[in-house]
Amino acid sequence: MTAKKSVLIVEDEHHLAVGIKYNLEAEGFQVTTAGDGPSALQCIQDKTPIDLIILDLMLPGMSGYAVCEKLREMNIDVPVLILSARTLTEDRTRGFDVGADQYLTKPFDLDELLSRVRNLLLMYDRRTKRGNGQPISSPPQYQIANCEVDFATYEVNAGGKKAKLTQLEMKLLQYFIHNEGRVIPRDELLENVWEMPATITTRAVDQFIRRLRKIFEPNPSSPRHFLTIRDVGYRFVTAGVDPELDA
Ligand code: CA
Repeated sequence: MTAKKSVLIVEDEHHLAVGIKYNLEAEGFQVTTAGDGPSALQCIQDKTPIDLIILDLMLPGMSGYAVCEKLREMNIDVPVLILSARTLTEDRTRGFDVGADQYLTKPFDLDELLSRVRNLLLMYDRRTKRGNGQPISSPPQYQIANCEVDFATYEVNAGGKKAKLTQLEMKLLQYFIHNEGRVIPRDELLENVWEMPATITTRAVDQFIRRLRKIFEPNPSSPRHFLTIRDVGYRFVTAGVDPELDA
């Protein structure tokens, strides 16, 4: 089971936002809408990570360009697809200049929009999985059970109890978050997080998982988030599973 990808639609034409939302939900996405820039930025900074943003340009108050620029300034590396009635080359160029990934003009073909959304997500997934020397980026904060993780300071606040992650622990946690729901073999973790061939003992991985469990799991001996998949590796689930059912 893979987690649903979540899409944020930033669009002030309500009927259009609702139409796109309906179609994305039919394709299995989880969809949030925002009618203007500030509420879009607020939504992105909230706890639930957004996997992709569909962004209109002509928005009341703050333009789509400004929203995209702000996102990139905040180091939020989420794929952005601009969906705009502006058809000029300079609009397109400006969109890419502020950090958008794709540009689709209105009126648009629904199948094309859906296919671009899927492809953009795949591309970003591959990029983060390959771990090509780039830090795996995430929104600044993340919530697991009652624990809040701050990616900037590496601090974890577990209901008032503080812990600090090492760089490697943080990298491992971010890798889990980006691959949420997928079974990840230990070898893959060694290659992409430790950046070493899987020739060394995989017990190193297990030790790190134990440490993450100690911090994040209410009951580390019966994990709900960092799950062991026997003979394979691990699977991470933000929302947590019932250990009885997922054994
Ligand atoms: Ca508009």
